[in-house]
Amino acid sequence: MEQTFIMIKPDGVQRGLVGEIISRFEKKGFYLKAMKLITVNKSFAEKHYEDLSSRPFFPALVNYIISGPVVAMVWEGKNVVSTGRKIIGATNPADSAPGTIRGDYAIVMGRNIIHGSDSVENARKEIALWFPEGIS
Ligand code: ATP
Ligand code: MG
Repeated sequence: MEQTFIMIKPDGVQRGLVGEIISRFEKKGFYLKAMKLITVNKSFAEKHYEDLSSRPFFPALVNYIISGPVVAMVWEGKNVVSTGRKIIGATNPADSAPGTIRGDYAIVMGRNIIHGSDSVENARKEIALWFPEGIS
């Protein structure tokens, strides 16, 4: 069954949105397969976002992700990668529809609460990076 990697970013954790976010994925019908609270270092964050390393906002993005603990999760279900992205909403909260997580809780791109894998292949890579111990 398809799996995706979802991360609640430091602002989502600090603002107390963990329960709300998990609830949205649960109520949709997806299955939580793995979860941990973890603070990552700079090189780990750079690895996670390595495809964006040439972008001007990359250093700020890395500093954002390492600014506090994040909740790393694996969710499973039919089409969970693309449907998960719909639940999350557009990258820029200014464009995220109401009813999406970013549309309801975020205002700016640099504090957009949550990450979701953008393809099945990247989901596999990200799950391997964040859960090297494997998931049961
Ligand atoms: P994520 O990978 O975090 O789920 P995304 O897939 O919607 O987000 P990406 O293009 O992968 O968007 O960008 C990763 C993150 O980098 C965004 O979530 C946002 O925090 C930040 N970001 C992207 N574009 C910009 C930008 N133009 N200015 C500032 N920050 C940006
Ligand atoms: Mg992305």
